[in-house]
Amino acid sequence: MNDVTPHTGQTAPRRTPEAAAGGLLTVDLGAIADNWRLLNGRMGKGRSSAAVVKADAYGLGADRVAPVLAKAGAPCFFVALPDEGVRLRAVLPKHPIYVLSGPLPGTEPMFYANALRPVLNSPEQVAIWLAQWPGVPYALQVDTGMNRLGLTMTEFEALADRLDPKIVLSHLACADEPDHPLNARQRVAFQSVRDRLPKAKASLANSSGHFLGADYLFDLGRPGVALYGGNPAPGKPNPMHPVVRLDLRILQVRQIDSAGSVGYGATHSISEGRRVATVAAGYADGLLRSMGNAGSGHLGDIRVPMVGRVSMDLITFDVTDVAAAKAGDMISVLDHRHTIDDMATEAGTIPYEILTSLGQRYARRHVGGAA
Ligand SMILES: *Cc1c(COP(=O)(O)O)cnc(C)c1O
Repeated sequence: MNDVTPHTGQTAPRRTPEAAAGGLLTVDLGAIADNWRLLNGRMGKGRSSAAVVKADAYGLGADRVAPVLAKAGAPCFFVALPDEGVRLRAVLPKHPIYVLSGPLPGTEPMFYANALRPVLNSPEQVAIWLAQWPGVPYALQVDTGMNRLGLTMTEFEALADRLDPKIVLSHLACADEPDHPLNARQRVAFQSVRDRLPKAKASLANSSGHFLGADYLFDLGRPGVALYGGNPAPGKPNPMHPVVRLDLRILQVRQIDSAGSVGYGATHSISEGRRVATVAAGYADGLLRSMGNAGSGHLGDIRVPMVGRVSMDLITFDVTDVAAAKAGDMISVLDHRHTIDDMATEAGTIPYEILTSLGQRYARRHVGGAA
């Protein structure tokens, strides 16, 4: 029913019916809008926060997320690649959409046809854009210390007089470590960039940058992960509202009738009388294998530990403490009690990777906002 997008004829990802899914992913669009308002409120008068919706809004569905953020007041949007911009344009007819990776050679017409604005990252991109599309809006990225994307400070100095970007941006390498000395070095370098281009909106702060102090805010914030509930100030209480909930279906509950082990590699020893619930999701659904024997969830109000390795399609939990546990029940692995940051810690990664790994086999429910 939802398989074909009528206006293009392209096949859209098939929607999994809830009854047939191994997991239910619930995305709270209202919480995303609240998170944007919280960040935007930190910017102060005359300034605002944009919204970074690259990688399908960090895996949560850009087509659902972006219109809600536009309605909340986000003035413009950032994606990574032109194709993401084309798909976003279908749901955001009017807002400026910036493409962080810039125009790959030959994709300039794609930008023009969809009114996408490139972030120009090299002198070559600047030369091509100014020659081929004079007067067509663009942003400019200057590298102030990350050594990743953008014009070097020297390249910028040489070109600055010819440039008239809508936005001039740079990206912080260590914004989630407030005491890192690179933050101040990047801020000072970026201040000199913004002074050369006073007409452009200056943008430095990602999510964490919104919490580094007033002199990091400039004109426009570029939050991503905090919109989706990730903690922008690791080590401190998370000011953001949780956005995702993930419930996994129990397929079977095993009463252990003699001591043994659980799962591949027999990595978890288990004694007689304990009970193991096997749920219908695994690393193929983005539940990283590294959280085997380390992750956890909740069955009702009771915390249940993951035991054994994470398999491709299955994960095992010790549910001995929940006498009533039975096939068909759901174990929640992401919610307000166990957040994407908690899961990231258990898996030895960051919440960005947890979100962008969330699999395509879950049934997805978008609630709140304008859903
Ligand atoms: C991804 C990205 C952001 C958003 O970063 P978060 O840490 O998710 O807030 C901002 N700017 C650039 C250039 C990015 O690549």
